[in-house]
Amino acid sequence: MGAGTMGNGIAHVFAQSGWDATLIDVSRDALDKAVKTIEKNLERQVKKGVGSREQSDQTLGRIRTSTSLNGAANAELFVEAATERPEVKFDLFRQLDRAAPAAAILATNTSSIPITSIAAQTKRPAQVIGMHFMNPVPLMQLVEVIRGLETSDQTVAKTLAVARSLGKTPVEVRDSPGFVSNRVLMPMINEAIFCLMEGAATPDAIDTVMKLGMNHPLGPLALADLIGLDVCLAILEVLHRDLGDDKYRPCPLLRTMVAAGRLGRKTGRGFHVYGG
Ligand code: NAD
Repeated sequence: MGAGTMGNGIAHVFAQSGWDATLIDVSRDALDKAVKTIEKNLERQVKKGVGSREQSDQTLGRIRTSTSLNGAANAELFVEAATERPEVKFDLFRQLDRAAPAAAILATNTSSIPITSIAAQTKRPAQVIGMHFMNPVPLMQLVEVIRGLETSDQTVAKTLAVARSLGKTPVEVRDSPGFVSNRVLMPMINEAIFCLMEGAATPDAIDTVMKLGMNHPLGPLALADLIGLDVCLAILEVLHRDLGDDKYRPCPLLRTMVAAGRLGRKTGRGFHVYGG
């Protein structure tokens, strides 16, 4: 559910590992764009020799798209990757709970919204779990698996097994704000934005310092552009509110960028500019 930056990658890795996958989004445009992105990424894999053209065709053949939840009436696992807003996810999980088979696991890819509060929207909180994939999903090894207060051991075991079946390495963490990944990552990105706002250095200089000095594959501003600046802002707001510490306050420049619609790669412009 949700065919944006993350949804296309999640469908890609499931289909590549032999699962039949249905991508669901409220926007037909988002679905068409997602399928195009998957085609492009599969093509790149074939060129790199990671898979054959036949395998790539089989992967594409396992992916369907739908604008309604009816498209997944028989699914055993749902992975929600819709917009990072509590009201969107709460409403979606109430609908999912009604539409999904009784035994199905309902996973969410949320970056920061408490799993326990998402689970509480359903009558099956023991079967709700966080399955936090990293961007870009086909390339990144980690899946952070987050256990809500009511998540059962059986749901955790099944989710860990599913993540391993995708060739990923799952790491189990407790349900606390930002989990581990974003609790550690977002303050670094936010501080880089403060450096930029205060004129400490240019975006290129800040990114180069962290790439060459700390051996990070991407600088923090380029990484923020990859994640999406609206997503970064939403995560920082959750950290700030739920941990109650001003060290997590979102940088005003981040708010300005989001207000201007400069959301990073997905809109062609963020801290850096992206062509075509
Ligand atoms: P995005 O903005 O690129 O895509 C969100 C998609 O959800 C859009 O296509 C939108 O049309 C769709 N959507 C909205 N409401 C919906 C609904 N009711 N039903 C179905 N689809 C709906 O967002 P994204 O960056 O892919 O993030 C998705 C989720 O993954 C968020 O929870 C985010 O925090 C999380 N996440 C993002 C990243 C990242 O790097 N971007 C990394 C890890 C986790």
